[in-house]
Amino acid sequence: MTVTGRLRGIVAMDGPSGTGKSTVSRRLARESGAAYLDTGAMYRVLTLAVLRAGVDPASDDAEPVAVAATPRLRSVTDPSAPAALLDDEDVEKEIRGPEVTQAVSAVSARPSVREALVERQRKLIADGVAEKGGIVVEGRDIGSVVVPDAPLKVYLTASEEIRAARREAQDRKAGRIGDVEKVLADVRRRDRLDSTRKTSPLHAAKDALVLDTDHLSVDDVLAELLRLARERGILT
Ligand code: C5P
Repeated sequence: MTVTGRLRGIVAMDGPSGTGKSTVSRRLARESGAAYLDTGAMYRVLTLAVLRAGVDPASDDAEPVAVAATPRLRSVTDPSAPAALLDDEDVEKEIRGPEVTQAVSAVSARPSVREALVERQRKLIADGVAEKGGIVVEGRDIGSVVVPDAPLKVYLTASEEIRAARREAQDRKAGRIGDVEKVLADVRRRDRLDSTRKTSPLHAAKDALVLDTDHLSVDDVLAELLRLARERGILT
């Protein structure tokens, strides 16, 4: 599918892992000339900094270590080559590995970590809009907290089993050994932690459009996003 329009403004894409958020967000951004911001990667990089510092990510000590690492983080918002850097090191592979995935929800639940990253995210979003006219931002709290006035907010969902199967397929593609049962347990654990934390828990913003992707292909979701963006007047 080829997108012919140009995105103007912000699209907020939220939802739990394995809903296809990254794939469709990146494609929408790439094909509409917009920037793309993966906020999950930012939480992952700070989590990696905590692990590398030898600090228990679930302990109170993790919070100041993660906050102190914020200036060392750099996000590249080009949808053709998005990247998350720690001290200019490309840590993409490491942040997708099991250690970071296991620890990230504990670190991202800390209020001052969220505060520090939300501030950065707003700056990156403003830069993306200034440079390219539009940006697609994916995460858990984009429509509810980071950009509550975004003209298009979408919340993707899918059943746990389908999300686990998609994650496992991604793991295998990335050369990690896939294990659906383990991935399903991780999906459940992260959903629980992300939706029950006190600060900015995962939930659909009141005015978000909820899309169940269980029976939708990437092309189907993209087509629906394009329709919505045109309807809102932000894709011309
Ligand atoms: O999207 P991804 O699975 O890479 O996100 C990793 C983790 O980062 C999530 O499980 C969640 O704990 C946290 N996160 C968050 N808020 C966001 C994006 C991600 O709390 N906006």
